[in-house]
Amino acid sequence: MALYYNDATVIFLNGDFVKAAEAKMDFYSQSLHYGYSVFEGIRSYKTDNGDTKIFKPVEHYERLKNSALAMNLPYTRDTNHLIDATYEVLKRNDLQDAYIRPVVYAPANMSFAVNTESFIVIEAWEMAPFLGDKLLRVMTSSFQRPNPRGFKIEAKAAGHYVNSILASQEAKAKGFDEALLTDMNDNIAEGPGANMFFEKNGKLVTPPPGNILPGITRATVLQICRALGITVEERLFKADELRNADAAFFCGTAAEVIGWESLDNIPFKKDWNDSVSKVVQAAYKNMIVEKGFEGLIKNKEKVSA
Ligand code: PMP
Repeated sequence: MALYYNDATVIFLNGDFVKAAEAKMDFYSQSLHYGYSVFEGIRSYKTDNGDTKIFKPVEHYERLKNSALAMNLPYTRDTNHLIDATYEVLKRNDLQDAYIRPVVYAPANMSFAVNTESFIVIEAWEMAPFLGDKLLRVMTSSFQRPNPRGFKIEAKAAGHYVNSILASQEAKAKGFDEALLTDMNDNIAEGPGANMFFEKNGKLVTPPPGNILPGITRATVLQICRALGITVEERLFKADELRNADAAFFCGTAAEVIGWESLDNIPFKKDWNDSVSKVVQAAYKNMIVEKGFEGLIKNKEKVSA
């Protein structure tokens, strides 16, 4: 409990601000029994001028809506209203650098039938910017990402994360930092909770939408690359090609942009500090912390670490 909330913590629950420790949820909810809910992972940062700013809140709450609709969960919430509610949750809990977790869930329903209503909770807890310098040791997972013909893979649905948990736990049990999962055709897809890019000869490559959650950080990296004139290819590739890469990184709201040291214990060819990937990491950091998200950096000098 101490990790995420205490007796004073306030959450937003279906329109009201209530104490997390006193809030109730229905144990007969279809969401609890079948993993049938959708959620978001959002960050807020303390910016240079001391303000608290949520990173890309419209994009996150629009994805929440699209995830809910993809799952046939009734959704009538207004994005701007939810953003205001989120700022209020941050304020009431005195949070600046925080992780925000909205969840849309179903009422009591043991059948598989469509519901007439859904509920929403917004929780937040402290999370310092990561921007980790420690490079990750990544392992190719024995688990594949869910088959997009069996799941709506572009939706951020809770049930998909059973796959993520299995893959991440397997990697950690084997002494690695994180897992990398392939799709059903053995193309590289993504991490358990992050997208990935690799670098070869100064260009970046990332899997296209289809077998991945198209991340908001991934879109931000594409935006940064466009601004900096870094070429990015969105295409399928296999582990063999990745093993020959110069560098690689994960990107996601929680992970931010984090480089890899090795894949399956094979180190990447280029020193991270000399990579274009590191320039992208620095630009991301610049964007979220130092610049208060204002615009992108127009030239490489300003972002080179
Ligand atoms: N893929 C998966 C499976 C994820 O859970 C996440 C985290 N939401 C991402 C990618 C990255 O998405 P975002 O950048 O929107 O956080």
